[in-house]
Amino acid sequence: MRYSGWQVLAQGLTGNRRWARAWRDPAPKDAYDIVIIGGGGHGLSTAYYLAKEHGLTNIAVLEKGYLGGGSVGRNTTIVRANYFLEGNSQFYSHSMKLWEGLEGDLNYNVMHSQRGLINLFHSDGQRDAFVRRGNMMINQGDDAILLDREGCRKLLPYLDYDQTRFPIYGGLYHPRGGTARHDAVAWGYARGADRRGVDLIQNCEVTGIDISGGRVTGVQTSRGAIRARKVAIVVAGRSSQVAAMAGLRLPIESHVLQAFVTEGLKPVIDHVISYGMGHFYISQSDKGGLVFGGDLDFYASYAARGNLPMVEHVAEAGMTLMPMIGKARMLRSWGGIMDMSPDGSPIIDRTAVEGLYLNCGWCYGGFKAVPGSGHCFAHLIATDRPHAAAAAYRLDRFATGRGLMDEEGTGSQHNLH
Ligand SMILES: Cc1cc2nc3c(=O)[nH]c(=O)nc-3n(C[C@H](O)[C@H](O)[C@H](O)COP(=O)(O)OP(=O)(O)OC[C@H]3O[C@@H](n4cnc5c(N)ncnc54)[C@H](O)[C@@H]3O)c2cc1C
Repeated sequence: MRYSGWQVLAQGLTGNRRWARAWRDPAPKDAYDIVIIGGGGHGLSTAYYLAKEHGLTNIAVLEKGYLGGGSVGRNTTIVRANYFLEGNSQFYSHSMKLWEGLEGDLNYNVMHSQRGLINLFHSDGQRDAFVRRGNMMINQGDDAILLDREGCRKLLPYLDYDQTRFPIYGGLYHPRGGTARHDAVAWGYARGADRRGVDLIQNCEVTGIDISGGRVTGVQTSRGAIRARKVAIVVAGRSSQVAAMAGLRLPIESHVLQAFVTEGLKPVIDHVISYGMGHFYISQSDKGGLVFGGDLDFYASYAARGNLPMVEHVAEAGMTLMPMIGKARMLRSWGGIMDMSPDGSPIIDRTAVEGLYLNCGWCYGGFKAVPGSGHCFAHLIATDRPHAAAAAYRLDRFATGRGLMDEEGTGSQHNLH
């Protein structure tokens, strides 16, 4: 079924009883050409582009829970292409272009809203760093505008510009940055992959990876063994655990990150704002809730929930930046598991096991990467050659030290990212 305005009208007039299922619920087959482990944003987009761009459809996505139940449905939904380093800059620019045509491509309203992202700066040194970043973004063909304090005040009049500790000097404005509805991105890719014949299998946990003679031959799951010529690990926060099933030790630490939402308010924030000193970022959802987050919880964990010290820290940062936020009631908070890489940049690569591919290390920024990651990973799986936009995301950079992309200059200190 193709979604359209006419369809909404016709279904509405007939009691909304004839909507087709968004995707099938198939039983797993004994064998597939490709098995994708993980039904998050990256796994689903990989399956979609394998089918759409490479005509490969004998594929299963195996998800241990429900589609979109991981970080893809837990993030603060910020989409941007404002990276500085060669490699990252190209990749996120590629992903942004895919975002811009995504709704038409998927025939699904993912509520992509390019409302503009403003990264605030609070010192001369930080301004210089943002000037360099902005120039890199423009050289890459993306957009960046340096705002002075008054320029910021025009767009964001409700901020506290004169706070004594970190007064606001200005901001780097990225007009094409914005937000998207996170669940809809997972659902849109799921529906698109299913329509092209991919089997999406939920409640199917992978418990082992079968290898024979250095080559992957299939997986063991909670719903039986499945043979496969190629297997892709795309499980974000669980990457180290799943890769260990193939005897691989990854340079990935899993950390908790929390998000927070207030009660619904009338429109008040019409951009995405990132506080340059307090590790705090905020936007307003289309339902009216203020959606915000801060830093990692500062300990490695597989629990998708956080702790109160970070709630206090984030609330303090929010109050410093925009004291009006103190009047809103915070309704909900939750956590997700971040696959933190040592240089803050991801991995999209083959592994030492033939036919076994790896996609991970997205840290806290993998939502905006969903289209680009799936597109490039599908290219790698289908052709065994890296896509030009993701060629820098090699796994062996952590063994050799060559080609590290330490975007934040913080090394493996995840608490400093
Ligand atoms: C609070 C928070 C805020 C964030 N904010 C942003 C943001 O504003 N912008 C941004 O770009 N990014 C953000 N991120 C990061 C982003 O959400 C993640 O980097 C990205 O979603 C990870 O990729 P994914 O969607 O594939 O992961 P997931 O959705 O976690 O998918 C992985 C899937 O693998 C499944 N799985 C795991 N083990 C197995 C197994 N053994 N067998 C089968 N299936 C398995 C899991 O159940 C899960 O569904 C945020 C994350 C969080 C938690």
